[in-house]
Amino acid sequence: RGKADPHLVVIGGGITGLTTAFYAIRQAKAEGLGLKVTLIEGSERLGGKIRTMRRDGFVIERGPDSFLARKRPIIDLSRELGLAEELVTLNPATKKTYILRGGKLHRIPPGLVLGVPTEWKPFVTSGLIGLSGKLRAALDWVLPAARGDADESLGGFLRRRLGDQVVDFVAEPLLSGIYAGDADKLSLLATFPQFRAAERKYRSLMIGLGRGAGATRSGAAGEDHIPPHARGSAFLSYRRGLSALVERLSETLQAEGAVLLTGEPVRAVTPERGGGAVVTLANGDALLADAVAVTTPVSALGELLQGVPEASLFRDMAYASVANVVLGYRRDAIRVPLDGAGFVIPRTEGRFITACTWTSEKWLHTAPRENVLIRCYVGRIDDERWRTMDDAALGAAVKREVAELIGIDVEPEFLDITRLEKSMPQYEVGHLDKVRALRDALMKKAPGVFAAGAGFEGVGLPDCIHQGKQAAEQAVAFTRR
Ligand code: FAD
Repeated sequence: RGKADPHLVVIGGGITGLTTAFYAIRQAKAEGLGLKVTLIEGSERLGGKIRTMRRDGFVIERGPDSFLARKRPIIDLSRELGLAEELVTLNPATKKTYILRGGKLHRIPPGLVLGVPTEWKPFVTSGLIGLSGKLRAALDWVLPAARGDADESLGGFLRRRLGDQVVDFVAEPLLSGIYAGDADKLSLLATFPQFRAAERKYRSLMIGLGRGAGATRSGAAGEDHIPPHARGSAFLSYRRGLSALVERLSETLQAEGAVLLTGEPVRAVTPERGGGAVVTLANGDALLADAVAVTTPVSALGELLQGVPEASLFRDMAYASVANVVLGYRRDAIRVPLDGAGFVIPRTEGRFITACTWTSEKWLHTAPRENVLIRCYVGRIDDERWRTMDDAALGAAVKREVAELIGIDVEPEFLDITRLEKSMPQYEVGHLDKVRALRDALMKKAPGVFAAGAGFEGVGLPDCIHQGKQAAEQAVAFTRR
């Protein structure tokens, strides 16, 4: 390698990989160091799960559709990329969200924080939960806090504090949707560690969250970090959709001299004795890297990193497969009011769709005003019926439920299906121990190789960005050791 600039290879061109490359270049520049960056993406397209389709005035998200405004890393990145002006807020007129219970839509009671009631009055008067469920939830005020630091399931924790009804009919459908998972299997510490912290500090979860104990590792309280025009909205997106972020990152990386390879899957990362690694592509080419950031889905790690047995800890990690079905209508054909953001469906309802967003009402930038856009979510970790269906059958099943649940029975002008096989990693109990074991093993057996992304410490876009930034800092520090 002689005196040439050190070489960082980033594997994976989703949001984590793009962010890693971006911050590595920035950091090296700030320190006056030379750094050559190559980003290698296996598919033909950058962005990974992020995929916006723009057509006929519609902005249609086929993957993620927005992000939590209170989480700082994505707001900072938006600013650094000159995208802050493009941030758009939720339509303030559609504050209501519903939960299906007994075939009917019930308004989610105000005062819910992360699916947990924190205001007594709206909760008591809600028709979502029976009297016995409300009385059981009230026990949260007096039940002692559990001891010990061991992980437990998210569902187990919430059932212990709030009882089964609140979990099954309110918290689970709201929280598990993020993972398309089963709350009784998901790890509390890897998904909502703030619940444990609230119990520790306040004993009662309802009181703790009511007092603001909901902030997370990459979350910030308050709104000071958000540009003024984008304040007052729990979620944000961009006027041209989330792909605007991917496009701006890739333009910036190219302008900074990074090499972006697409359609080139990596086959192996072979650690070098003195640090760094040889990165071998499926086409047989090999690149010598002083540092490597692996940001692929974690199930691929075992294959890629054969010299590190701990990489196989994630080989059997469960991933939920989901489908998105987007339906576009002419507004004058819709005879029912869509007075909110949409609804979620508890698994106990036994429905085919898991949630439905009234996208054009929730996000004004997504459709021309003379149209209505609806997005239905299908599939969860224990319901893969849709995978055996062709597009016609899948579309028909969704249209049937849209007619039954919200009364829209006209044919849509268009229907778009996105199949996202094995797209949502399931952080099961003990997940963070595996992450630590892998990171320790990489340090010892593959110095200079770093791993980050949705399979590790947070699936949300801000969490992926946070991880990408950390990987960049570690990689740059390693190259100048
Ligand atoms: P990915 O986007 O999966 O990128 C990994 C990349 O690695 C891919 O491009 C892949 O092709 C590439 N790759 C794989 N193997 C190789 C190889 N061998 N060589 C080279 N490249 C390889 N988050 C939110 O914050 N808000 C939301 O509204 C939201 N909604 C979601 C809805 C759905 C349906 C899904 C699936 C996720 C959603 N998420 C949401 C989560 C979020 O989108 C993802 O966690 C995030 O985009 C993952 O980014 P990543 O870069 O870590 O991984």
